Amino acid sequence: MALNRPKTSNPTAAQSAQFLNSNNKFFNIKDGQTALLRFLPPPGDAPSIFFPVTNHHGMKKDDGVGKAALACLQNHGVATTGRKCLVCDVLNYLKETDEDLFDEVKKDSAARTRYYTQVLNAQMGKDERNKPIVLGWSRPVLIQWSKTAQEDLQFILDKMDENGDDRFFDIESGQGIYVSRKGGGLDTKYTPERSSVKVSLDTIRPTWGDEFIEDIYKTVGLTIFDRDVQLQYMQRSYPKLPWQEILAALGIED
Ligand SMILES: [Zn+2]
Repeated sequence: MALNRPKTSNPTAAQSAQFLNSNNKFFNIKDGQTALLRFLPPPGDAPSIFFPVTNHHGMKKDDGVGKAALACLQNHGVATTGRKCLVCDVLNYLKETDEDLFDEVKKDSAARTRYYTQVLNAQMGKDERNKPIVLGWSRPVLIQWSKTAQEDLQFILDKMDENGDDRFFDIESGQGIYVSRKGGGLDTKYTPERSSVKVSLDTIRPTWGDEFIEDIYKTVGLTIFDRDVQLQYMQRSYPKLPWQEILAALGIED
């Protein structure tokens, strides 16, 4: 029996059609809502359905107003940038030398990891006896999870593997997962639970293969800059830091 019976709505046919054919690439469960999600398998030879994205937030754009997030090079560095992240280096230096400054920079700009998965999202409705039913499934969309939510979903996968069950993202015999959200910001709590209805993806969304998002990182839109550009962002965002000292310590010529 379900722990949480999902809240349901009663959309018009037009609302339903708009939802199912929307070109939105991202989906967010709202506070207090329960979504029924069908996870898609990882594209290509990706090792996991979870795509970790690590960003340094709170960076000022060169107009001095807009905010930017820079990809952490430790996780997302490429051949042209290397994997040594300047933002992480500066944070490490401050940690050793000035706790107050460290706390100030850490608050907005410490590396933060979120996990993206690709899912179909069920449009719920009611049948004539007012029981919740699935009206249809959206095209593939990306949804972002905190570390805790990712661990809770991984826990379900671990249990399935232990018991020899088909994984919930299996194309033929996977199943939907109910996910309830409570709270916002850092207090957001997601509770996932299996639906236990095994069904092929081809049955619930025959077009899923054509709509499949193959390059998840490209869709998420990481901003990967080399160390020189990272430094420009850092100096603009945190002009009060002792830059001469920091550059000398990191062996960077001014
Ligand atoms: Zn970093």
